[in-house]
Amino acid sequence: MSNSSKKKKILTILGARPQFIKAGVVSREILKHNSLQEVIVHTGQHYDVNMSDVFFQQMKIPKPDYFLGIGGKSHGAMTGQMIEKIEEVALNEKPDWIMVYGDTNSTLAGALVASKLHIKLAHIEAGLRSFNMNMPEEINRILTDRISNILFCPTDKAVENLEAEGYRNFDCEIVKSGDVMQDGAFFYKKFAQKPSCNIQDNFLLCTVHRAENTDDNEKLKNIFDALDEIAKNVQVILPLHPRTKSKLENINYKISDNITIIEPVGYLEMVWLLEHCELVITDSGGLQKEAYFFENPCITLREETEWVELVECNANVLVGTDKEKIIDSFYEIHKNINNKQLLVNKDLYGNGKASQNIINELLNDRK
Ligand code: UDP
Repeated sequence: MSNSSKKKKILTILGARPQFIKAGVVSREILKHNSLQEVIVHTGQHYDVNMSDVFFQQMKIPKPDYFLGIGGKSHGAMTGQMIEKIEEVALNEKPDWIMVYGDTNSTLAGALVASKLHIKLAHIEAGLRSFNMNMPEEINRILTDRISNILFCPTDKAVENLEAEGYRNFDCEIVKSGDVMQDGAFFYKKFAQKPSCNIQDNFLLCTVHRAENTDDNEKLKNIFDALDEIAKNVQVILPLHPRTKSKLENINYKISDNITIIEPVGYLEMVWLLEHCELVITDSGGLQKEAYFFENPCITLREETEWVELVECNANVLVGTDKEKIIDSFYEIHKNINNKQLLVNKDLYGNGKASQNIINELLNDRK
């Protein structure tokens, strides 16, 4: 038997921006082990240069072995076509593991292929729940968790969620690995790059892209009206997600010139912005944690969050999409910003060792 045939093969399924960032960190860990081989499938859910290519370049993620080119479609068409294509790849590659990340359509498609072909499935970022069944992400993560063989939980809360749903009685393994995004934040900090836009000393970093906000005209307007008001006090830098841009265009909403709108930035620019901003306002899952990793308070434009531990330690406040609530919450935090003392508990998210924990588990797997 040749050496390469003894390697354990991991088929990694990626498709969306947050997955490139998470997988970039884990891929680096996989490359340290000769006994592992990673085959990367990029579904094409996000495919623009600034939503995809830039992350592969900056984080030196190995070039995808397969690019499926399935983007810009309805949920059903996208997920269905992904299943069909990923199945072909899996039959061809015969991996020991299929590895999926987070909660997108690419995650669910990869998970279904693994379960139908009886390939072991590893889910990174398992156990998270918003308890909002209107979120497509919530459906994707629940279904993926249920058919995973090994569930890598980023937090204690994620483990508790699975236990509450009876997962200890299921034929699966639950591992509290920590959060690979914290590994990334620690590692890439030293490579941070200042974006080329005009940046004032004190600025606020904002992102808006969650479907529950962008698909509701009223909520979307409220958010941008509130940001306009806030931007009269402090510079608001907002890398605009393509979905949000097109939704605003569809309703003929003109974003106020007070807000510094920029194109989506690469991860290294994002890390710079996170390091230097004074506050984050977002509806992103990842940004809520990254704000914390970089010791910034966060205002979250949602009614609930999967990252409840940050709300419990007052690092994050949930304000939803009510215009006045957003503005009030900004003033409340802003007035104390110079006394801000966010004590970051690095253990909450695994102390930067999540990818190592994940890969060690897979290496030790004898089943
Ligand atoms: N991000 C980035 N550039 C941007 C906006 C976000 O690099 O212009 C990064 C961000 O730092 C985080 C990830 O993308 O690591 C989060 O992705 P997103 O907010 O799209 O998804 P979510 O976390 O809500 O699933």
